[in-house]
Amino acid sequence: MASGPALVYAVESGAGGRPGLVFPLHRITSTVGRRKLTDGPVPTVDLTPLDRDRVVSRGHAQIVRRDGVLVVCDLGARNGVFVNGERLAPGAERTLAEADAISFGGVALTFAGDAPWPDGLRAEWDVAAFESSADHTVQAGGTLTGQLHQAVELDQLVLHYQPKVTLATGRLEAVESLVRWRHPVRGLLYPDAFLPVAEATGYVKAMTTWVLAAAVRQCAAWRAAGLDLHVAVNVSTRDLDDDRLAGRVSTLLADAALDAEHLVIELTETGLMTDPHRATANLHALKAVGVRISIDDFGIGHSSLAYLKQLPADELKIDKSFLLPFSPDNLPILRSAITIGHDLGMRVTAEGVEDQAAVDLLRDLGCDVGQGYFFGRPTPAESLAASPLATALRGA
Ligand code: C2E
Ligand code: CA
Ligand code: CA
Repeated sequence: MASGPALVYAVESGAGGRPGLVFPLHRITSTVGRRKLTDGPVPTVDLTPLDRDRVVSRGHAQIVRRDGVLVVCDLGARNGVFVNGERLAPGAERTLAEADAISFGGVALTFAGDAPWPDGLRAEWDVAAFESSADHTVQAGGTLTGQLHQAVELDQLVLHYQPKVTLATGRLEAVESLVRWRHPVRGLLYPDAFLPVAEATGYVKAMTTWVLAAAVRQCAAWRAAGLDLHVAVNVSTRDLDDDRLAGRVSTLLADAALDAEHLVIELTETGLMTDPHRATANLHALKAVGVRISIDDFGIGHSSLAYLKQLPADELKIDKSFLLPFSPDNLPILRSAITIGHDLGMRVTAEGVEDQAAVDLLRDLGCDVGQGYFFGRPTPAESLAASPLATALRGA
């Protein structure tokens, strides 16, 4: 393996305003195959230094420093992000260990841990490049992190709502609120493009507060207008670590004069696993407020059934990957997930319902609720209210 030199960016301000080193990143090579670290001369690659916490970014992937460790995030990279040849799920992230080989967007990097810089690499460190791109970042209106913060303040976030339909009756019973960011330059951004950053930086909490307030107000307005709907909101791991979440939810409900039972809080199994004790305590606090709890993306996490059983959950949402693409191999999984949910006293919702065949199958399997493009894509509040499903509900 060639030992560099590589184009290296340092992204932390050191003493005297000079850029300091964050970590030695070396062996940046172009990738022929996604997994291959090519030997030979190192081409110049366009890695962008962002701010002190985000180390490199290219396309829709980035390496972020969090709590002293480096984490690679897939922000929706077109051909994926690979760590040691294994593809990360879109939106997923992974802590880097020394010697991990990372590739995305046509480059491959080997993470050298905290090893001292080889002489050759230090010589390649290009302070000028760092300084000019730092200027560029400022001129462009701040980093994505800063912009995201403004997104909340400047009301650039918007919610789209996707129908959740009772399979036995075809009746619209709830909508899931899904956040989008109307970025002033890049247009409408989907969660995959900014949630990992929001989570990495902790801004997701401000975002969640905004989303909860907007969704709760919208639900109250719909109900006042005769639409008997529940609204679901997604919360992230960071939110569940926060002991103030339940109090905040309770205040927002009171402000909007909405009964707690009309709000559903969706959280993923993975979100619960970081600090299960704390997350469980906060869930119980939410439950005490009276909101409904839903376990999202069921089937792709690693929580044990014993753990699930302790949760005060009302709904189990089977991950869409069991329907998309549909294969008969998934039937036993769908069937058992439905049984597990029912045995634990929950309503079961299947995500990723894209056609009538899926509706028929799920209904036969006893699944309670369906959500997916067949019933409707996520859409702004006004279009949701004007949809045939909402019209039918009003007339019901
Ligand atoms: P999720 O909670 O699993 O949301 C469902 C995602 O699946 C949505 O993507 C939705 O557009 C998509 N989807 C729904 N039905 C179908 C279907 O039939 N086929 C296919 N192919 N896809 C379908 P979206 O809106 O891009 O959201 C992605 C994820 O971002 C969500 O996954 C959720 O984890 C997260 N997210 C969205 N809004 C928020 C939010 O306000 N706060 C937090 N913390 N996370 C959010
Ligand atoms: Ca969800
Ligand atoms: Ca889901």
